[in-house]
Amino acid sequence: HSIMRQVYTSVGANPANPAAAPSPPELSHRLRQLQTALANDEFELFYQPQATLADDQLLGVEALIRWRSPSQGLIPPAEFIPLAERSGFIIELGEWVIRAACQQIKQWQALGLPPLSVCVNLSSLQFARPDLISRINNILAEIGIAPKYLGIELTESVLVQNVDTTMAHLQALRRLGMLISIDDFGTGYASLGYLQHFPFDILKIDHCFVQHVHTNPTNGAITTAMIQMAHSLGLMVVAEGVETTDELAYLKAQGCDAIQGYLLSQPLPASQFIQWLRRRQRP
Ligand code: C2E
Ligand code: MG
Ligand code: MG
Ligand code: MG
Repeated sequence: HSIMRQVYTSVGANPANPAAAPSPPELSHRLRQLQTALANDEFELFYQPQATLADDQLLGVEALIRWRSPSQGLIPPAEFIPLAERSGFIIELGEWVIRAACQQIKQWQALGLPPLSVCVNLSSLQFARPDLISRINNILAEIGIAPKYLGIELTESVLVQNVDTTMAHLQALRRLGMLISIDDFGTGYASLGYLQHFPFDILKIDHCFVQHVHTNPTNGAITTAMIQMAHSLGLMVVAEGVETTDELAYLKAQGCDAIQGYLLSQPLPASQFIQWLRRRQRP
């Protein structure tokens, strides 16, 4: 299929430009800053809701990390996740993310909110660890929430890097009842066969294909093909980065299941997310 070939040739992962990379001393300084930030509890999760298109029900929320630095302000993940991944710090940081998300789930349950699933992003380094499942299980048990309220998102790079370990982990997560999403779909190098073999529940169409989907014929064709393919494999489809009602209308017409994006809400700090939820529930 020419459309799907286009998906895999027109959009590649964006390799870092080595010439623009900071020198090692700057990197180790930055890494020490990140370690200090974790010790000082300066990381924070923001929450972005996902809603179904058919009946506008809240599907779940994605947890997105930020660094609230006292000296540098609010720092987005693009500015520290790559270094955390290269240095291995993501193992520690990722564990913090899972624990913080579980604590938030517990808190929302205690407030009597309708049960919400929270999805966290996991890096390939986390997936490469043989103890990933026992670590997740320990956190769930420690905090006391059911696994079905925690979801995970992984990108194609995870699948390509450690096929056997990843498969074993995903099957274990599936047995626990956790929701599994394939994130940024179409931006990496995984073959379509991967979709069929791994136990995914949700396919997330990357923002780059969703942008102007109603006026950009390439994005329209790619998105339509992805929705059909995902459905034929029994996956639910979430479109990422939906910003306009025109994009929403197009996606709905093509049978997309749910959306996430600024149109619905930006990622919000926990307290603001509760306000958003209450405003939305008000008749
Ligand atoms: P992602 O998982 O694909 O998350 C979606 C990104 O799209 C988020 O960027 C979100 O703020 C942004 N977004 C949502 N709606 C819209 C929209 O309507 N328009 C536009 N232009 N953007 C939108 P964010 O929060 O900056 O996160 C960027 C990436 O950083 C994430 O992409 C994810 O790959 C990574 N990341 C975030 N949190 C974590 C984490 O806890 N662990 C790991 N390993 N990676 C994380
Ligand atoms: Mg994600
Ligand atoms: Mg994504
Ligand atoms: Mg992304």
